[in-house]
Amino acid sequence: MASTRKSSITCPKSSQKTSQDEDEAWTCAKCTKIFREPEAQLMECQRCKEHFCITCLKKTKAEYSMLCKTDAMWFCGKCRIVMEQHAVTDIEIEKRKSRENNLIVFGIPEIDEESKEVRENADKERLNELFKDCKIQLDKENLKTVKRLGKFNKEKLNRPILVKLPSAEPKITLFRNIHYIKTNPKYEKVGVSNDLTQAEREQEKRLWDQARRQTEEEVSGDYHFRVRGPPWARKVVKLRKLDS
Ligand SMILES: [Zn+2]
Ligand SMILES: [Zn+2]
Repeated sequence: MASTRKSSITCPKSSQKTSQDEDEAWTCAKCTKIFREPEAQLMECQRCKEHFCITCLKKTKAEYSMLCKTDAMWFCGKCRIVMEQHAVTDIEIEKRKSRENNLIVFGIPEIDEESKEVRENADKERLNELFKDCKIQLDKENLKTVKRLGKFNKEKLNRPILVKLPSAEPKITLFRNIHYIKTNPKYEKVGVSNDLTQAEREQEKRLWDQARRQTEEEVSGDYHFRVRGPPWARKVVKLRKLDS
């Protein structure tokens, strides 16, 4: 049953049993009107179990009868929004989960070599060195997948590297030990980031927009705002201009 009042009502929160001898009554969750007559036209939300009168739902009697005849579940507006948000979140969680052992490394030049295998091995060597310099012991075999993103281009030998690790641990340690990279002239042009989902990239962009705005509004001129922090706790921070 799609919907509705009488037949599908088992134990509605909003219905008020007035007394033992009287019939059930339903309260519209929106206008709070109480309906007692058996032919009262209300819809029951299958999620929150609240009732809504057709006046509040802006439905005609004909539409109401149609809805009662279909097998489709009916949900109130509030519940529909919540369910949509959850659906998106679930997909997003899945996406993040599938990337949680991934790492993106920027700024490591690739070698000009036709053989993909040779290039890949060279990349693995460089990555191993990077991990070692960050005090992370990682066997070369542990670099499960090392892949340059985008098409090979002899003119631009600097594609980002996607690294799939056996677990998230070495990555977390790498982010914690990031100062080893930041303070080493050898890695002047090297950066690391999480393998961000579209939503995370948008969030990152929002943070940078906010940082830019706050910098513009900063009156003393001694500070600027930047986005800092490990991937799981990115935030806008205020920095003295000389320090960063
Ligand atoms: Zn109502
Ligand atoms: Zn509902």
